[in-house]
Amino acid sequence: MRPLQAQIRLDHLRHNYQTLKNIHGNKLLAVVKANAYGHGAVRCAHALADLADGFAVAAIEEAIELRKHGITNPIVLLEGVFEAAEYGLVDEHRLWPAVCSQWQLEALLKHTWQHPVKVWLKMDSGMHRAGFFPHNYAAAYTALKQSACVDSIVKFTHFSCADEAERGSTEMQIEAFDLACEGLEGEESMANSAALLAYPEACRDWGRAGIALYGASPFGGTDERLKSVMRLVTEVFGERVLQPHSPVGYGASFYTKKSTRVGLIACGYADGYPRAASTDTPVAIGNHRSRIIGRVSMDMITVELDPSNEGLGDEVELWGDVVHINEVAAAAGTIAYEVLCNVKRAKFTYFE
Ligand SMILES: *Cc1c(COP(=O)(O)O)cnc(C)c1O
Repeated sequence: MRPLQAQIRLDHLRHNYQTLKNIHGNKLLAVVKANAYGHGAVRCAHALADLADGFAVAAIEEAIELRKHGITNPIVLLEGVFEAAEYGLVDEHRLWPAVCSQWQLEALLKHTWQHPVKVWLKMDSGMHRAGFFPHNYAAAYTALKQSACVDSIVKFTHFSCADEAERGSTEMQIEAFDLACEGLEGEESMANSAALLAYPEACRDWGRAGIALYGASPFGGTDERLKSVMRLVTEVFGERVLQPHSPVGYGASFYTKKSTRVGLIACGYADGYPRAASTDTPVAIGNHRSRIIGRVSMDMITVELDPSNEGLGDEVELWGDVVHINEVAAAAGTIAYEVLCNVKRAKFTYFE
């Protein structure tokens, strides 16, 4: 059997949830959209079910999958519905839809509800992607408030730059939100992972933690309060010694400078490992840091072996405890979110 494994440490997931909830205070949604950022939404939700104040997903299909697997916690649809007919299912499964646009608002008010619904009303406080503009927000709020089918309203917004060193735009978004919410009662939610860690003033009634829940710092680098949930591991299944000045891999992009022991490992871009991460991207071979040499192929990667390595059969960590996901993402010119979401074909194993 091909040895590539995504080891999912559910104990680390629980640790991160509790840590983030303590930092945020009040309630915290565990964001499990996109199959829990590639970790397996049903398994992750079950592992958090007794702790989590609620879950958040991107679409109703993701929410229904959780309901079908026995998840009874609140579930927020972060983007709301994609067509009016979905409100029937929102009602049936007792989901909490975001309302981000006028058509979603009108369709919600037109729907005949069996149960009063809790609505997450989104404000566009400056990201300019979705939500009601601050000057239209009170009108949308009032329309919902006056409807008998609306049980309560959570006012929320999303930040565009909370993970960046420059603080001005997040501060402006907070200010715009607070100003437009003046006089509108009810719960509030602002903070994603980055804001939760960097902007205490954005921690309101509900936090929404995604990437940090999986143990990756949203700022790049590491955060010792968080434990990495996924460990992507494989094995050396081929080994050879190359003479100096030998090219390695597609495009002959790397040449050995000295006599080099090269290991061949079972992982490639078809498994979601980013092809853009090539020579010098770190890997850990038997817990020693080493590096990729040459290009990432579809199914294989070549790595440098050092004298401490056995070679054949050695365990190789692509990311996890020794190599941080943010190192791989940086080497590939992308972010941990994308790298994690892309993992596929690996055997997923779950540890309590
Ligand atoms: C995905 C998402 C989050 C989680 O963001 P992280 O940066 O992963 O913590 C929070 N809020 C909304 C609206 C989202 O779409």
